[in-house]
Amino acid sequence: MKKKALVSACILGEYCRYDGKTKKINAVIEALGDEYEIIPFCPEAPLFGTPRERINVVEKEGKLRIITDETNVDVTLRLEEEIERFLEKNPAFDRIVLKSKSPSCGYKTTPILNESKEQISLGNGIASTMIAKKFQEIVLESELDFI
Ligand code: SF4
Repeated sequence: MKKKALVSACILGEYCRYDGKTKKINAVIEALGDEYEIIPFCPEAPLFGTPRERINVVEKEGKLRIITDETNVDVTLRLEEEIERFLEKNPAFDRIVLKSKSPSCGYKTTPILNESKEQISLGNGIASTMIAKKFQEIVLESELDFI
């Protein structure tokens, strides 16, 4: 049986980004292709559709929340539930590759904003935070590790 890799769907060529585009990275697909069964992951598209309003990680009263860019709706809980559902269905992985800089998938590379939408640091998206906590034995990678 093949090992399993969780990979952000936009890296795999799915047109699931907020702007309706993809971020296909052939180097990731080629590196994992033969050895791994690749499980695509995108928590935003099933919830909000594509294209959709951009979301941001915003520090609010000391906590990180996921807030829509123009309408200022807090979608943190909805995303948490979607990611939880995915992880319940897919409880085991051998490798994890997540898209950098994303408010969902980015790991240590995602802009963290204050309530005035100014960048105050770099950190994690909501999915990478939950995934890192669940799979502490796996070193999270991004497409940047392949190019
Ligand atoms: S970065 Fe993650 S949430 Fe954003 S489009 Fe890619 S897979 Fe979906």
